[in-house]
Amino acid sequence: MSVNLRDYIASVNDFPEKGVVYRDISPLMADGVAYAQATDQIAAYAKDKGVEMIVGPEARGFIVGCPVAYKLGIGFAPARKKGKLPRPTISASYGLEYGRSTLYLHTDAIKPGQRVLVTDDLLATGGTIAATIKLVEDLGGIVVGTAFLIELKDLKGREKIKNYDMLALMDF
Ligand code: IMP
Repeated sequence: MSVNLRDYIASVNDFPEKGVVYRDISPLMADGVAYAQATDQIAAYAKDKGVEMIVGPEARGFIVGCPVAYKLGIGFAPARKKGKLPRPTISASYGLEYGRSTLYLHTDAIKPGQRVLVTDDLLATGGTIAATIKLVEDLGGIVVGTAFLIELKDLKGREKIKNYDMLALMDF
């Protein structure tokens, strides 16, 4: 029997600032059945697309992507913030509400032609996932899909990645 994943998302008013409703995935992660169900759904999507490698941005992209990689018996590469990866990297910058941020990926994380799934917990404006996609493509990877637990519809991130296939398990 399946559970309703929406029941495992906590909505927190005025976090991290007034007027924002933060969607917190930690109750979902804390429940073995819900976490496994979400993982299995994304793994089925990834398997269907012939995914060979998963890439997710720091930090909740790891929480979504790593169990899927384990389930499929494939690898995971982390896209990380400045100063975290010890070997040669490439980088991609993206806009935040205030200022910019940069993500890095090891240059040997992806083999040219590899079929890659990009994962994160949540799609908002799409800046984070677009930067992650750019990193994969700069290394010659083929982004065959993107997967999220949650899509925030009003922020229209889907438009930023309209050229890519996308799975979101829930929307708000
Ligand atoms: P975007 O780059 O605007 O699409 O923002 C998505 C990134 O911000 C993801 O890595 C999320 O983890 C994080 N994020 C934005 N809003 C929320 C939220 O309401 N809950 C959890 N994470 C969020």
